[in-house]
This record gives sequence, structure tokens and C-alpha cells, in this order.
Amino acid sequence: MVATDRVYQLIAEHTTDLVCIHDLENTIRFATPSSKSILGFSSDDIIGRRLTDFLAPEFVSEMDFSTLTRFFDHPGSRIRYQVRHGNSNRLRWLESTFSRIEEGNKKYSLLSSTRDITESVHLTDDLMNALSTEQQLSRFKSNLYSVASHEFKTPLAVIQANIEMLKIKKSPKVIDMGLESMEEEIDRLNSMIADMLQLKKLTMGKTTLKLEDLSLMAIMEDVVKNDCTKAFPKINTTLSIAKGEECTVRGDYSLVRYIFSNLMVNACKFSKDNTPVKVSIAFEDNFAKIRIEDQGIGIPREDQASIFTSFYRATNVSNIQGTGVGLSIVKEFVDLHKGKISFESSPGEGSTFFIELPYTLDI
Ligand code: ADP
Repeated sequence: MVATDRVYQLIAEHTTDLVCIHDLENTIRFATPSSKSILGFSSDDIIGRRLTDFLAPEFVSEMDFSTLTRFFDHPGSRIRYQVRHGNSNRLRWLESTFSRIEEGNKKYSLLSSTRDITESVHLTDDLMNALSTEQQLSRFKSNLYSVASHEFKTPLAVIQANIEMLKIKKSPKVIDMGLESMEEEIDRLNSMIADMLQLKKLTMGKTTLKLEDLSLMAIMEDVVKNDCTKAFPKINTTLSIAKGEECTVRGDYSLVRYIFSNLMVNACKFSKDNTPVKVSIAFEDNFAKIRIEDQGIGIPREDQASIFTSFYRATNVSNIQGTGVGLSIVKEFVDLHKGKISFESSPGEGSTFFIELPYTLDI
């Protein structure tokens, strides 16, 4: 079939891409009717304008306009950019390619062909997000297997040893000791499993807050009594209000309790016997500011940047039990409460953790 003017006209009228011819100043001199669906303006409306006139301000503000526009008059270039569709607020992603028009009298300079790629950009974004969640989950699983093989083994071995001992020694005192030791190990296993489940929930973005007015002093007193004094009777823990009068804090009880418990248990377990752990809470400027100070082993400088990463444990703790999961959960929980957490630590001298929780949460 020989292309006639009528054939060219049919192609121009029915092409789904927007095809434009630009003059030497890049002004559009011809546009196919598809401009209505691609740019949201009729071809008559876009004649006399430039493609760069339609760039979304949000998109341009992220880029240098002069660098960006250089692509628009570059034969052979392919550029992706965002426009507002017509006069609406809808943003669309477009991709244009340019080719040079060689004409004797040089009235025209370029031909552009533009396509709406919004769906494929969104699809790529969705795929990238899914991939990153998938990668996080796969990293989580492989870390979990290595922690499980090390940390879960110890309590199981202790339980096994106790069972063997109970089979041969039948005295009531030995039975009591054996049962108590097994109960402790089962508690430890349960809390490790609870941590893993919590971390998985956080990784998948499934943690939600059940908000209520909380007394931080009451929660901290409960943690000191039940999680510290019993398990670490040789650590002297003190709790005080450093400044202001106690105000309630809007938060999720179990998450805030977890934050306090993890930091307090760490302060105790990384301390030597007969050293103090001092806790104080200041109420000022609409924030509760909690400070937990120990005189324990401290955190080596080279490990300090990584301790909020899940499964990370510093190099000086190999003989103290743990999974390296707690602090990463604490950090996420503090973030969910729009709070802040930081620490200072000197190896061999001790560590101080600081948390700030706002009184109210605008979620
Ligand atoms: P775990 O206590 O199970 O090892 P965490 O996630 O709670 O894991 O803490 C991560 C790491 O941070 C710990 O293994 C330890 O190296 C370091 N760390 C946290 N708190 C303290 C502390 N108070 N003193 C010394 N090291 C600490």
C-alpha cells in the first residue's frame, strides 16, 4: 500500500501516542488529537505552547528546570516527566522521544512522540515495594534461623539437663530447683518467640496502637518490680521524677511497657552485681523525658551506630544471653509514638538511654 495524504491523516487522527511537530524555538506547531487524552488539552489548545509548559510544578521543583529542559530539544533522547492532566489535579507520568526533522527551508526542528506511562510507573513502584518487603522478610527469616539455632538451643539444653537430673535425683529440694530452672527457661523461650513475632509484625507494617492515657511512673514501677528486682536482685534500681509533675501520656500500654522493660532489663543484665541503675522521668515542654543510666559494660564505639538494627549485638556481649532483637523493636515502638530515643555510652563505664514521649499523639 502506498502512503497517501489520506493515509497519513488517518494515522495522525488515530494514533494513541501524542505526536507533535516543533518549530526552531520548540513551540508546538502541529499536534495529533490524542493530546486530549494524553495532556488533557485539545490539539488546538497546545499549539503555540511548549511541552515544558505542562510539567507538574511538584516534579520541576525537585529538578533543575534548565537541566531538565535540555532533554526536551535533544534528538534521540527519551525523557520521563510528570504533568498535571488538563486543569485537574491529577498527575500523569509521560515519556517523550524526539527526532530531528531535516527540511531544506528549516521551518521545523523536531518531532516528538509522547506516551502516557502512568500505569507502568505505578506498577513498577508497587513491584519495588513488594520486592523490598519480600527482601526484608527473607533477611528476617535467615536471621531468625541463625538466632534460633544459637539462642533457642541454650534454654532447651538446660531443660533437657534438668529432665535427666530429675530422672535420677528424687529429693524434693532437687525437684523444686529443677522445676524452677525449667520454668525460667520456658519463660525465656516464650519471650524470645514473642519478640520474633513482634518483629515480624513490625516488618510487615501490621502493628497498630491501642491508645489510652498512661501513667509512665506506674508502668516503670511495675517493670522495676516484676522484670528487674526479681531477676536481678543484686542490682540496685532507683526511680524518681527529675522535673515537673507527672502528666499522663497518650500511648499504647503494652508497647510502652515493652520499651521500658527492654531498656531496664538491658541496663541490669549488662551491669555488674552491686552497681546501680538509675531511672528518672522529667515532665516538661509537653514531653515525658525518661533517662535510664547504668554503670555496666558499655557499648564499644564501633558498635554504637548499629545497636538499633535487628539481630545486632555488640562485640562485648557474647557471654550474656540475648538475640539482638529488643532494641530494634523499642526503636520502632518509640517511632510509632512519635517519640525519640538516643543513648550515650562509654565502654567499661556504662550507658545512658534517653527517650522522649509526647503527652499527646496526633495520628
Ligand atoms: P539483646 O539484649 O537481646 O542482645 P537488644 O536489641 O536489646 O538485644 O540490644 C542490642 C545490643 O545493644 C545488645 O546486644 C548490646 O550489645 C547493646 N546494649 C543495649 N543496651 C545496653 C546496655 N545498657 N549496656 C550495654 N550494651 C547494651
